[in-house]
Amino acid sequence: METDIVVIGAGPSGIQAAIYTARRKVSTVIVGKPSNSAAADANIENYFGVVGPVKGIDLLDNGIKQAVSFGAEFVEENVISTERDGKLFVIKTETGKEYVAKSVVVATGISRVKLGIPGEKEFIGKGVSYCSVCDCNFYKGKTVAVIGDETEAAMSADLMTKYATQVYWITKGPKAAKALVDRALLAGVVVRDSPPKEITGDGKVGGLVLEDGSEIAVDGVFIELGAKSAADLVMDMDLMPEMDDTIKVDAKYATKVPGLFACGDVVGKPWQVARAVGQGCMAGLSAADYVKGVK
Ligand SMILES: Cc1cc2nc3c(=O)[nH]c(=O)nc-3n(C[C@H](O)[C@H](O)[C@H](O)COP(=O)(O)OP(=O)(O)OC[C@H]3O[C@@H](n4cnc5c(N)ncnc54)[C@H](O)[C@@H]3O)c2cc1C
Repeated sequence: METDIVVIGAGPSGIQAAIYTARRKVSTVIVGKPSNSAAADANIENYFGVVGPVKGIDLLDNGIKQAVSFGAEFVEENVISTERDGKLFVIKTETGKEYVAKSVVVATGISRVKLGIPGEKEFIGKGVSYCSVCDCNFYKGKTVAVIGDETEAAMSADLMTKYATQVYWITKGPKAAKALVDRALLAGVVVRDSPPKEITGDGKVGGLVLEDGSEIAVDGVFIELGAKSAADLVMDMDLMPEMDDTIKVDAKYATKVPGLFACGDVVGKPWQVARAVGQGCMAGLSAADYVKGVK
C-alpha cells in the first residue's frame, strides 16, 4: 500500500506526530502497540492539563482515537523491517503488511534497562519505578531505595531526599561526577554497596533484600540503570544511530536521510511525555512539509 507518511511507534510522540500529519491532510499510517509504550504503565501527574494521576494507557487510547478521527490509519503491530528504495521507504509489519512511504517518522522510544531480580516485574507500578522525576511525588514521607551507579542514580537519590524521609542508594561504587555524589550524600542519602537480590512485598513493595543477606524495609525501589534504544530499525534506512544509540536530528527533527524524521525518547533525554509530545508535533509538521514540498 502506498502512503505519504508512516509513523513507527504508538507512544505519545508517534501519536502526536500522526495527529499533526493527518490534520495536514497527508495520508498517514501509524504502526505500533500503545500497550508497549513506556507511558502505558505510567500514572502521570506532571503533564500540562492533567490534574491528579491519570493512567498513561488512557491518554494513549484517546490519542489513537484522535489520530484515527483525523484520518490516520492505525495498525497495531510491530514493524519488522525497513528499507530505502530510492527516495521512498518500504516498511513491513509482523503480519506481512507492506507500506511504501514518502516519509517516515521514527518514534520507537527506549527500553529501560531492567535489573532482572525476583519481584521486579511483579511490582512495576506498585513500588518499582524507573523514573524518579515521574514518580517522586508518590513517595512523600516514605522510605525508598535507588539502584544504579551512574549520573541518573545520583540525581535520582538526591531528588528523592526532597520527598522521602529516608533514601538508600544501592551502588557498587558511584560513577557519577563527584559533585553530584557529594550533593546526594550531604542530603542524607545512605549508601549500601551490596548488590540487590530480591524485591519483596505483599501486593506492593515492602522490602529490598541485598546479596549480603540484609533486608531494607522500603516503600519504593527506583531502578536507574539507563536505557536501550530501539534505534536499530534506522540502520536499514541508511542511518547510523549515535554512540549512545540515540538518533541525531536537527531543529526540525529531520535526520540526515531526506524524508526520515525522529522524535521522543529515541532522540534523547529527558524521557518525559511533555517533551515527547512537543517533539512529535514538530516532527509531524516537518514530515508533512517534506511530503508537500514545503521548504
Ligand atoms: C513506569 C514509567 C512511568 C513514567 N511516568 C512518567 C510520568 O509520570 N511523566 C512523564 O512525563 N513521563 C513518564 N514516563 C516516561 C514517558 O512514558 C516517556 O518519556 C514517553 O512515553 C516517551 O514517549 P515515546 O513516544 O518517545 O516512546 P514510547 O512511549 O516508549 O513509545 C514507543 C512506541 O514505539 C513502539 N515501537 C518500538 N519498536 C517498534 C517497532 N519495531 N515497530 C512498531 N512500533 C515499535 C512501542 O511499542 C511504543 O508504542 C514514565 C515511563 C515509565 C516507564
